Amino acid sequence: MKRLSIALLAAAGMTAALAQGFPTKPITFVVPFSAGGPTDRVARDLAEAMRKQLNDVTIVIDNAAGAGSSIGTAKVARAPADGYTLLLTHIGMSTMPALYKSLPFKVESDFDYLGLVNDVPMTLIARPSLEANNYAELSKWITANKGKINLGNAGLGSASQLCGLLLDSAIKADMTPVPYKGTAPAISDLIGGQIDLLCDQTTNTSGQIEAKKVKAYAVTTAQRLKTPLLKDLPTLQESGLKGFEVTIWHGLYGPKGLPADVATKINTALKSALKDPDFIKKQEGLGAVVVTDNRQEPTAHKAFVAAEIAKWTPIIKAAGVSAD
Ligand code: ASP
Repeated sequence: MKRLSIALLAAAGMTAALAQGFPTKPITFVVPFSAGGPTDRVARDLAEAMRKQLNDVTIVIDNAAGAGSSIGTAKVARAPADGYTLLLTHIGMSTMPALYKSLPFKVESDFDYLGLVNDVPMTLIARPSLEANNYAELSKWITANKGKINLGNAGLGSASQLCGLLLDSAIKADMTPVPYKGTAPAISDLIGGQIDLLCDQTTNTSGQIEAKKVKAYAVTTAQRLKTPLLKDLPTLQESGLKGFEVTIWHGLYGPKGLPADVATKINTALKSALKDPDFIKKQEGLGAVVVTDNRQEPTAHKAFVAAEIAKWTPIIKAAGVSAD
């Protein structure tokens, strides 16, 4: 008995010592979408800002893309809970449970929530050769081409899929969803004219809109954006799609069971990154809004995701979309 308690004490002491030194080796941020896309971009900028607070260790980005983010998310659920493998992902955490008949993880119980990072609007964009020059013209074009339109997305569970789903159920154009492993390959194909439309985050569409490589028609937020480049784009609501609103967000997670001091260190590093002027400037330049409210805290982050699950589940179920 005595020997057991000494062993337990020693183990507890070792964990505390490990946490004190944390991190002593590179940390991996698993990004469940392809490199060069919006989630990847947020992860890379965040990693740069957070490593300053984490003994300057390297933060490696692992793009475990596919199946609308469920592959990379599952990878982190199965990883050792030591703080060295984390997940940077988006709204898919709250839409996947309704979209997939079965998932190899439970969003509510298989992760430690480490804080929300940002809120990001989306934009409705098209291939550059599409003849419509504003939303009214696009709407006419959609009606004329009903059943023949290819709408890209980053897989079932991605934000672009959610946005496309809402769009198609609002305008009933019977569009064909074309899934990719992330926004980066979807935008390349949009620019090349292989697909017609895409609804995706401003973090990646802004640059393409500015370079006139794609056409932009509307934003998905309830209000117009303030970013100079996008401020003249109408909202989908004012364009006639009543109640249409999608704002996506990114958050940081670890596998369930992180040592408490490791989780605190990671959350503290996240919160100082969210105050880092360089990080804020980069995010604002891309139309994203860095979280300043209490969703930076694990408990509020978890409550927010639970509220998002409750919000999106009935909408997704009503749209009748699901996968195995
Ligand atoms: N923006 C993508 C999505 O539609 C994912 C990505 O490539 O970051 O969810």
